[in-house]
This record gives sequence, structure tokens and C-alpha cells, in this order.
Amino acid sequence: MTDLMLQGVGMTSARTRDRLIQRLVEQGVTNMRVLDVMRDTPRHIFLDEALSHRAYEDTALPIGHGQTLSQPYIVARMTELLLGAAGKLEKVLEVGTGSGYQTTILAQLVPQVYSVERIKPLQDKARERLRQLGLRNVQLRHADGGFGWPDMGPYDGILSTAAPHAVPEELLKQLAPSGVLVIPLGGKKQHLNLIMRDGDSEKFITRIIEAVNFVPLVTGTLR
Ligand code: SAH
Repeated sequence: MTDLMLQGVGMTSARTRDRLIQRLVEQGVTNMRVLDVMRDTPRHIFLDEALSHRAYEDTALPIGHGQTLSQPYIVARMTELLLGAAGKLEKVLEVGTGSGYQTTILAQLVPQVYSVERIKPLQDKARERLRQLGLRNVQLRHADGGFGWPDMGPYDGILSTAAPHAVPEELLKQLAPSGVLVIPLGGKKQHLNLIMRDGDSEKFITRIIEAVNFVPLVTGTLR
């Protein structure tokens, strides 16, 4: 990828990106670190060329295999919740790598990022993009993220970008003391949940944040 492609022109230029950031602020995103990283991250490289001109609209966009790149507002909101609720945030697990956009945002804010995706071709593309961006603090795995990534845990934060009906027990188990899980839950009607482990106890405190619309968490993997 050339510098010009990363930098963006026309509908993917710095000015277009600034407008998106302005919109996120208007919607109540306040974490400056999150806003800065989102301003500096070229969202257009996470989309097929035919869609890249829409990259800085505040909307979810298709990435193939029936999956979507999350809406920027939701990416910002989830990241902000994770940063705000966790004490130390050394190690984060993402469930649902998809295009790798959310992974890229996290990797610029957290020392170690692990991300699991069930659809191999999506993971392959994401891996290539992370390589092009020079991000070296991310590890990807092709697996069913409903089981987390036990070997690398526990995690200070877990962020799921696919929605199960109920919280996967395994994800709770892989939370470090005072760890935080940000996850959409539900079927047709979904809500974003912020679940905090109470110190090193087995107690969890849940806050329901807002109505959301994610692709479902699906079991098993696809080659
Ligand atoms: N974070 C992504 C969002 C992609 S949509 C991005 O920024 O582009 C959610 C992703 O979760 C899809 O790629 C889907 O394949 C994946 N997914 C769904 N169920 C999963 C599971 N059980 N394990 C791992 N990934 C899963």
C-alpha cells in the first residue's frame, strides 16, 4: 500500500475524517485518546475499493461473508467504555476480528491485543491490513471466540463485536480481577452491556448501556 493510499484523497481525505470525528463528539464520545486514534486511522483500507468512498460515513458497512464493519460511533463508544471502566489495561481480547478495524483502534491504545475470528478469509485480509499498518502488538487466531482464547488470558478487557443471546461463561472466566467485558447481548433486540468483575471475586456487575444492532455470535468456524 502506498503512502497516498493510506493518507486518503477526496472522500477519504483528512477533512472528511475530521467531519466524522466532529459527529462522534456531537453524539457524546468524549475520550480524546479514542477520538485522536480514530481520526488518524484510515478506515477506508478496511473496505473493498467499491465502498471505500463511504468509509467516513457514520454507518456500518458490508465486508463480505454476511458480516459488517461496525459503525464508527459504536467502535468509539465500546472502546471508550473499555478504557473508562478498566483499571489497568495491558491485555485485551477482541471476539470477532472481521475487517480488523476495531482491532487496529485497540492496538493503538492497549499494549497487547488478541483477536479471534471464525471466518478464515476475513481473518487473512485483516492480518494483511495489520501488517501494512505496521502493528506488531496484535495476535490473531482462527477459532470460535465464544470460548475466548484461554491460553493467552486472563484479560483486563474483552470486547465482543458479535452478539450472543447470553454472556458466554468462558469469557467471564477469562477476565482478570477487576476486568471488563463489553458485549452486545440479545437477538432481534440487542443491548450493549458493560460487565465488570468485582475485584478478584466471582461477582460481576452489569450495566446496560444502549440499544445496538450487531451481527450474531455464531458457533463453530469456517475455512
Ligand atoms: N470488529 C469487526 C466487526 C466485524 S462483525 C470490525 O471492526 O470489522 C463481527 C465479526 O464477528 C464477524 O467477522 C463474524 O464473523 C465474527 N464472529 C461471529 N461469531 C464469532 C465467533 N463465535 N467467534 C469469532 N468470531 C465470530
